[in-house]
Amino acid sequence: MGTKKIEKVLHYINGQFVEGVAGKSFQNINPFNNEPINEVAEGFKEDIDLAVQAAKKAFDEGPWRTMPTDERLRYIVKIADLIEANAEEISYLESLDTGLPISQTKKQAARGAENFRFYAEMVKNRMVGEAYPVDQSFINYTIHKPVGVAGLITPWNAPFMLETWKIAPALATGNTVVLKPAEWSPLTANKLAQIIDEAGLPEGVFNIVHGYGETAGASLVAHPDVQLISFTGETKTGSEIMKNGADTLKRCSMELGGKSPAIVFADSDFEKALDAVVWGIFSFNGERCTANSRLFVEQPIYDQFVEALKERVANITVGDPMDKDTEVGPLIHRKHWENVTNYIKLAREEGAEVISGHIPESYSGGNYVAPTLLLNCHNKMRVAQEEIFGPVMVVIPFESEEEVLRMANDVKYGLAAYVWTSDMKRGHRLGQSIESGMVWINSQNVRDLRIPFGGSKQSGIGREGGHYSFEFYTETQVVHVAIGDHHIPQFGKKKKSEAGAAQHS
Ligand code: NAD
Repeated sequence: MGTKKIEKVLHYINGQFVEGVAGKSFQNINPFNNEPINEVAEGFKEDIDLAVQAAKKAFDEGPWRTMPTDERLRYIVKIADLIEANAEEISYLESLDTGLPISQTKKQAARGAENFRFYAEMVKNRMVGEAYPVDQSFINYTIHKPVGVAGLITPWNAPFMLETWKIAPALATGNTVVLKPAEWSPLTANKLAQIIDEAGLPEGVFNIVHGYGETAGASLVAHPDVQLISFTGETKTGSEIMKNGADTLKRCSMELGGKSPAIVFADSDFEKALDAVVWGIFSFNGERCTANSRLFVEQPIYDQFVEALKERVANITVGDPMDKDTEVGPLIHRKHWENVTNYIKLAREEGAEVISGHIPESYSGGNYVAPTLLLNCHNKMRVAQEEIFGPVMVVIPFESEEEVLRMANDVKYGLAAYVWTSDMKRGHRLGQSIESGMVWINSQNVRDLRIPFGGSKQSGIGREGGHYSFEFYTETQVVHVAIGDHHIPQFGKKKKSEAGAAQHS
């Protein structure tokens, strides 16, 4: 697919693509050359108000939440079909917008469709209640009801996949949605709106307002008619959102940052561990929440492992995101490039040895950061504690299991962890002791959509994925039904003898 002109991105409100109320827009920039791609309508409180109004009306008046579940799920499957039919364009737009290599965005487009198919299946087969019989007198049962207007706020690092990961369960369970996509990556959100429009969902069920976090995002969070906020992004933004949502008592799901450890023991499968940690930090241009950005290697194999890492880093294909052979592309935005390069500068100041790969001269106009290893590090350095969110991995040697567990847990984050060892008792022992929402043993980050996804500590609150999403996107209601005689206290009712005495007096 050659370069094509990209139209202005508009908001999608009540089934229409519309300009913002204020008539403002901002430029969307290509990370490959820092040239403008297109204009994007900029939303503010007034646009959020219109979108929420449309979503509330669609929720209150139906038919989305009241139609037979099978009928609603047919729309969800239709969205999946249309994503698949448009997969090539989606991956092109995603790579253009984010700088992610096209081979990786192809998989993200496929995963977007899978998210919708998965939740159509889950709602049909797994959104079940529980029954609590009480002898012969009661049966109490639970049902899952949609909550109302779901506010979804997403980041730029895997925009299409993360948006669909929230939209699919929110819609399939019968909620209506207002999405505020990341301002640096609006293109595939817009394509998704076109797809949802084509799928023919009732007006107002799905809405998008583009714009900045501090204006459009904050208005969505503060809106009294928005029942819940599902947020993925930085930890400090998550904390800001929780503060701003407190006045309207928002139900929040928080998927936040990480500084995940990979621990490689001397007895592990050397080549597999090497493949996994290199992929884990350098895929997605290093902009992956579950990236193994802290690598701990057991002392006996440390030198050999580091040599192998250096060789890989030197050979990684840094290139044009549209080239199918590119392994690492440019970072999303110049501002983010500055953050990441400042961390590399800081690493030098903190005494690290910096080993970087190569960026071809012809890419100097893009936001490229070469794949980088930080050696000679210890776990207390800022570069080992703070999320860099780029293709930069801190490598630290360790002597013992106790020492590495202490270091792995000595960080404010707790999203993911990876343990490589052939001693499975040790694998389980360590896996269960690491403070993180998810641990992979002898594997890279392989997703199973049924599992609870989320972080502990400052990496998040709550879990989404599988049936865990129902806990967030639905209200669990209990219905108590008396099916036999049971005692009811008789307040204010006169006892028989008293009533008789009163009559005769
Ligand atoms: P960010 O927090 O800067 O922005 C995320 C979204 O929040 C954007 O849409 C932004 O406009 C919006 N936003 C910003 N301020 C807001 C406010 N005050 N009120 C409401 N909305 C606001 O994050 P980012 O830089 O886009 O994404 C990178 C971060 O996301 C990293 O920290 C990464 O680890 C994290 N992340 C986490 C997961 C996970 O599942 N845990 C997945 C992907 C990314």
